[in-house]
Amino acid sequence: MTETLPTAPEAAADAAAVAASDPGPAVESLDTIVSLAKRRGFVFPSSEIYGGINAVWDYGPLGVELKNNVKRAWWRAMVQERDDIVGLDAGILMHPQVWVTSGHVESFSDPMVECATDKRRFRLDELPGTEDLTESDKRDPGIVERLGLKCPIDGGPLSAPRHFNLMFRTHMGPVEDDGAVVYLRPETAQGSYVNFKNVAQSMRRKLPFGIAQVGKSFRNEISPGSFVFRMREFEQMEMQYFVRPAEASRIFEEWLPRRWRWYTRYGVAERRLRFREHAPDELAHYAKKAVDVEYRFPFGWKELEGIHNRGDWDLGRHQAASGENLEYFDPQANESFVPWVVETAGGPDRAAFTFLIDAYREEEVRGEKRVSLALHPELAPYKVAVLPLLKKRPEIVQLCQRLVTDLRRDVMAVYDDTASIGKLYRRQDEIGTPWCVTVDVESLEDAAVTVRDRDTMMQERISVEQVHRFITDRLAAARQGEPAA
Ligand code: ATP
Repeated sequence: MTETLPTAPEAAADAAAVAASDPGPAVESLDTIVSLAKRRGFVFPSSEIYGGINAVWDYGPLGVELKNNVKRAWWRAMVQERDDIVGLDAGILMHPQVWVTSGHVESFSDPMVECATDKRRFRLDELPGTEDLTESDKRDPGIVERLGLKCPIDGGPLSAPRHFNLMFRTHMGPVEDDGAVVYLRPETAQGSYVNFKNVAQSMRRKLPFGIAQVGKSFRNEISPGSFVFRMREFEQMEMQYFVRPAEASRIFEEWLPRRWRWYTRYGVAERRLRFREHAPDELAHYAKKAVDVEYRFPFGWKELEGIHNRGDWDLGRHQAASGENLEYFDPQANESFVPWVVETAGGPDRAAFTFLIDAYREEEVRGEKRVSLALHPELAPYKVAVLPLLKKRPEIVQLCQRLVTDLRRDVMAVYDDTASIGKLYRRQDEIGTPWCVTVDVESLEDAAVTVRDRDTMMQERISVEQVHRFITDRLAAARQGEPAA
């Protein structure tokens, strides 16, 4: 596969330069997105009629389309368009030993502090004044005193940090004894490691090759929030790339611009993305090097995806603990070794959220506010809406129905006649439908309809027979399109 990779911006930017070059968020207030998402059927609070459950969100009819499209776009880039990566769908429940071996039982935890007066709990590293906290600070029992930290709500005294394991535990089988404890997976990666040999053998894979997975993960986050950014039940899109040790550094660097480009290809503005390299003190126990792709959310620069050089930690540990030989025999070098892993770890919830925020547009058109979502056509929930100018004329409605039925064979299309045409356009703009097809009285005479473009609002008249082709051609062009600047 040939590809032109854009130059990666410097990973470690100096703090002052970053502050000076802060582009600001695409949308000032998170509430703007949360309320649009609820009003238009993208995301609802889970179990809302019972008052909701913290940090779980349900995707509504349009949200599920958007998220499915995000997952499809990732699969296309990571599996379909490449000959070196294959897919996998491992179980959410795994042998409990997996999580002991991986280090999660011992150290997948966050430092938590509790306020003595109101009993609220906080993640130590999210308190004001902890911006420069190092990993050893997080383990320092005297850290609260040393930094003079107080409860951000009522100013009360805070406890020393306690480490709180983020894995959800449950029981397998009818007897709740300790032997039956299993965990809901906190990441999909382990499924790929324990299947390394199965995949390599059944698919006759030579190094380097990757295993991609999309699926649910669960973390009992101490301070979830910011809408779908940090949930307790979420999905991940992770890819484990198995490499020769000597090639790991080079391959790691190659994945950085590739993953960056995936976000820009689907519409995220370059200026709201940056790379951030983890300081040596911040690296997870398994990582040799880690760089996050960060996005400028309304609540600051935050991780969108992590790219990690994990060395031989994963396969090495599983080999030692399971007794199964996970080495790879390299016929070129005539030697066996445990492959190293370069991982790209992102998630469709954070990605869909980012695409939503970055696509949000507000402008004034003829004295009225127009809100639109300039979503990439591949990601838009509906590709096309078919609208009647006069719903009282049965011939117009029939023609609309004929068009929409035909379009639905290939794309998500919707028919709507519940308001005036101006309102219908605004509704489709707000949910990001790239094209609206309007059938009017003249259509009955000239067998032509008007197609309106969401972004330019330009209208063109095309024949009824061309509609299907028009939409699928434009979608194909958008799919092939180069990354947006
Ligand atoms: P953070 O530092 O934000 O907690 P992390 O470094 O723990 O993230 P990873 O373990 O690298 O995240 O997980 C990979 C990806 O999975 C993240 O980049 C994100 O897209 C997604 N993800 C992780 N935790 C959550 C969550 N609680 N809610 C939604 N998505 C998540």
